[in-house]
Amino acid sequence: MTTAIFWFTLDLRLRDLPGLAAAMRQYDQVVPVFILDQSDPWFFGGASQWWLDHSLEKLSADIAAQGGQLILRRGDTLPCLRQMILQTGAVAVHFSRAYEPWLAAKQQQVFHTLAAEGIACKRYGGRLLLEPELILNQQGKPFQVFTPYYKRCLKILDLPPDAPMPKPRWHNHKLPGERLQDWNLLPTKPNWATGFDAWEPGEAGAHKSLREAVTKRVASYSSLRDRPAIEGTSRLSPHLHFGEISPRDIWHSISHSRTLAAGAGEPFLRQLIWREFSFYLLHHWPGIPEYAFKPAFEHFPWTRNAKALKAWQKGQTGYPIVDAGMRELWHTGWMHNRVRMIVASFLTKHLQLHWREGAAWFWDTLVDADLANNTAGWQWVAGCGADAAPYFRIFNPVLQGRSSTRTAPMCAPGYRNWRGCQRNTSTNPGSRRALFWSRSEWNWVKPTLRPLWITNLRGKPPWQPTHRSSGRSITDIQIGLHGAAQADHMGLQGLHLTLNI
Ligand SMILES: Cc1cc2nc3c(=O)[nH]c(=O)nc-3n(C[C@H](O)[C@H](O)[C@H](O)COP(=O)(O)OP(=O)(O)OC[C@H]3O[C@@H](n4cnc5c(N)ncnc54)[C@H](O)[C@@H]3O)c2cc1C
Repeated sequence: MTTAIFWFTLDLRLRDLPGLAAAMRQYDQVVPVFILDQSDPWFFGGASQWWLDHSLEKLSADIAAQGGQLILRRGDTLPCLRQMILQTGAVAVHFSRAYEPWLAAKQQQVFHTLAAEGIACKRYGGRLLLEPELILNQQGKPFQVFTPYYKRCLKILDLPPDAPMPKPRWHNHKLPGERLQDWNLLPTKPNWATGFDAWEPGEAGAHKSLREAVTKRVASYSSLRDRPAIEGTSRLSPHLHFGEISPRDIWHSISHSRTLAAGAGEPFLRQLIWREFSFYLLHHWPGIPEYAFKPAFEHFPWTRNAKALKAWQKGQTGYPIVDAGMRELWHTGWMHNRVRMIVASFLTKHLQLHWREGAAWFWDTLVDADLANNTAGWQWVAGCGADAAPYFRIFNPVLQGRSSTRTAPMCAPGYRNWRGCQRNTSTNPGSRRALFWSRSEWNWVKPTLRPLWITNLRGKPPWQPTHRSSGRSITDIQIGLHGAAQADHMGLQGLHLTLNI
């Protein structure tokens, strides 16, 4: 009886997983393991730990439903794997190839060490559509500009549909493992993740998001994807980051959809190639999480301003769209791409703070925090990345905010927070969701508030709201001038409205 170990990393799924499929085909039984190594240099941020906990719980349940047991281990990866090899008598270790430089280096070490000890170590693709070494320009060098890279990808992309997974052959003897709840990945005191409940981590949730994308988002994607007020994108990013769904599954579902017109999926699929491009850059330029892709930017005289950084992180800059985005990020673990660009531009170009400060905050607060995409996104906005927006392109946070919300004020990012807020009661309004509008925007926002029942007005607003009830259950609304301190140093006034429900 031959045994193989499948070492899960950022590929927490059972479908279309080449390394697992091969292990199931080649060996009599497979032991699935996930190892939490807290010494990793890019260990999961807070929001990602929340996701990881739920995702592992789902994966465990899925494996258990097939008669297996996901083994959880904590510690240095190599000793953990060695111990499991001894305990199970495994002759092989399979895993999916990583592109994050630190994880790729760890996989190399595992590969060489175990191979030298006679274990068949095998690395498989599956996280990307195309391996980065395959795409080179005519000089045999990596592309640095997206469009030619994209064209080349389309030319060579040949994606056979995934073969059905072989019948599961999980190792079914009890093995020592840790309990997920002992890892303390979920926040408790305080539990800042109450607003994350709308997410459904895990493979089933990923496929649900994909189905929704195919039926409701993809056809209108090119016209709606840049409008944060509208649910126009797929929200697949955390599922993709944790590998709960393969990019190949997404590609096939969209390009072979019977409901979509020919070519209708192209704008969406192009974004998947942007994701590939980020991984491509990280693979060929592994130093970019720390250093600017364009070396000249290493000498840029970034400002240090702890107060401004805090105001940005907390969503207290006074700029409505920036604050709505940053609060949405804190409360839901996600932010629309357009708003990510606006807040990143604000940090790097208005406040002139280092892009790494912003990337670090995103790393901690995004459920989809991804080394490749986060690095590329920040460098693109800051102007120091590959094929980046030029350094002089600055998102105007006032105009961007207005055009993002005017068309659908009730669904504006702040409103999305508000809708989520209805489920929760807050005793600490300052740290809860808030809606922000600048003074000039108030005139068009005001009518949308009419249906709300305002029972309690605090602060001294410069207007007298005359809203009347439509019987909704809102019990407390505060309206006040935005904090003087932020307004002063940002040089603007905004209206600050917090809902306690
Ligand atoms: C400053 C900044 C930081 C970012 N940090 C991250 C990050 O940590 N993790 C992350 O996954 N994305 C990041 N992005 C890219 C992008 O904002 C998100 O992928 C997107 O908003 C996710 O929402 P969605 O799944 O609804 O995307 P959709 O619009 O539905 O796109 C589908 C998929 O394509 C990929 N994609 C879409 N846009 C981009 C893009 N611009 N670059 C690369 N891939 C893209 C994502 O995997 C996404 O899930 C960042 C962008 C910026 C400007």
